[in-house]
Amino acid sequence: MNSDKVVVVVGAGPAGLMAAEVISQAGFKVKVFDAKPSAGRKFLLAGVGGMNITHSEPYPQFITRYYEKSQWLSQAISQFTADDIQAWMKSLGIDSFTGSSGRVFPQDMKAAPLLRNWLKNLRDNGVEFYPNHKLIALAPFNLHDQSNGYQLSFINKAEPTEITAQAVVLALGGASWPKLGSDGKWFNLLTDKGVSVHKLQSANCGFYCNWSTYLQNQFAGTQLKNIALHFTAPNGEKMVKKGECIVTKDGFEGSLFYAFSKYLRDAINQTGQANITIDLIPDLSFEQICQKLSNKKPKESFNKYLKRSIALNSLEIALLFEKFDKTQLHNIEYLARAIQQVPVTLTQVKPIEEAISSAGGVCQSSVNHNLMLTALPGIFCAGEMLDWEAPTGGYLLTACFATGRLAATGVCDFLSNNLNKQI
Ligand SMILES: Cc1cc2nc3c(=O)[nH]c(=O)nc-3n(C[C@H](O)[C@H](O)[C@H](O)COP(=O)(O)OP(=O)(O)OC[C@H]3O[C@@H](n4cnc5c(N)ncnc54)[C@H](O)[C@@H]3O)c2cc1C
Repeated sequence: MNSDKVVVVVGAGPAGLMAAEVISQAGFKVKVFDAKPSAGRKFLLAGVGGMNITHSEPYPQFITRYYEKSQWLSQAISQFTADDIQAWMKSLGIDSFTGSSGRVFPQDMKAAPLLRNWLKNLRDNGVEFYPNHKLIALAPFNLHDQSNGYQLSFINKAEPTEITAQAVVLALGGASWPKLGSDGKWFNLLTDKGVSVHKLQSANCGFYCNWSTYLQNQFAGTQLKNIALHFTAPNGEKMVKKGECIVTKDGFEGSLFYAFSKYLRDAINQTGQANITIDLIPDLSFEQICQKLSNKKPKESFNKYLKRSIALNSLEIALLFEKFDKTQLHNIEYLARAIQQVPVTLTQVKPIEEAISSAGGVCQSSVNHNLMLTALPGIFCAGEMLDWEAPTGGYLLTACFATGRLAATGVCDFLSNNLNKQI
């Protein structure tokens, strides 16, 4: 064992734990520190609604889910793919299954059994855990020679603690759901040392818009099912996606909006708003809708007519009344067009604290090919704190695992090279 070399991993989420696994298997002594009293709190939360750990689609399609960072992340993900994740789970005694959407889950959909087995395995392999340790500072042990390692300062229940390490993996997460530990406060720790970090922003998040008081009072919390969202980005790119969402008192939440969140957020950043249209009946053509609307019964109320002829629900009818001139809606063609194109202006992105994940983080230009900070040789970064984003679908955890492994490989190479130099 290379036990004289201490590697500190800060952050006991999926990225940090994966780094600890690989480094400890290579024979180095690993100490994992985390600000929270226990490991993997966000990982456990991801398991509450059914943990989607990866996706089974073919790799060439899979890797495009990381948008413009696909090529960068392929360095990590091509070495730890969806198949590798399933094999790794199996090695920890957890079978997986693939849902009809191609999403991959642990057999019982939960994160807790996997995390439990994983932590046991790490402890059996000599990894030591230091909960309740919040990293507040880091500096080279010897200001003039970073090859001597780093001094890390933690706060442990109000008591300061100092640790030295020959190499460090930072896996501190993004800034969503900060009560689970990843609060993004590491930002200044790194920018102060000359590391470029892009601002952390909401990803897979809800959006604000202005509803009337009536709509807020009557329909906040109501689901819109089987609709399609149409959006034209500021660069002219047109996009459309079917799905479902929830109307909240101040906007929208839900998978349909999460899927478009990168584009909607970028448009709001660029132009101050994002204009979308919603097709309330995307499975029917304009002509089919007109046909169905053409049988209004005499004396039938307008609401009843819309419910009977075209199966609109009360929220969908309220949206039509909110967004269109009521008198014109009596014209069948106008009404059919309105049903297909309810316009909504999204005014703001919902706060990062409420988002599923973060965009932004440590820039690609600040790290080398195996995720070592070029400004701080010997310090590596992994997981959501790196500057990438992806939609939900298992892509987030996959990239966290894979970057954890790549950073770990970098640590092993770095320490072995240092050792060789000393010999
Ligand atoms: C509700 C919800 C559901 C999700 N569902 C899924 C899903 O089904 N599939 C999927 O792929 N992804 C899902 N995700 C996203 C996924 O959980 C995250 O992308 C992933 O946990 C990020 O891993 P990480 O290791 O980079 O960071 P984290 O899991 O955030 O871990 C970072 C760790 O660092 C610690 N830390 C932070 N700062 C410090 C500090 N200064 N000192 C010491 N420790 C510190 C934190 O306490 C934390 O334990 C979900 C997220 C949420 C919020």
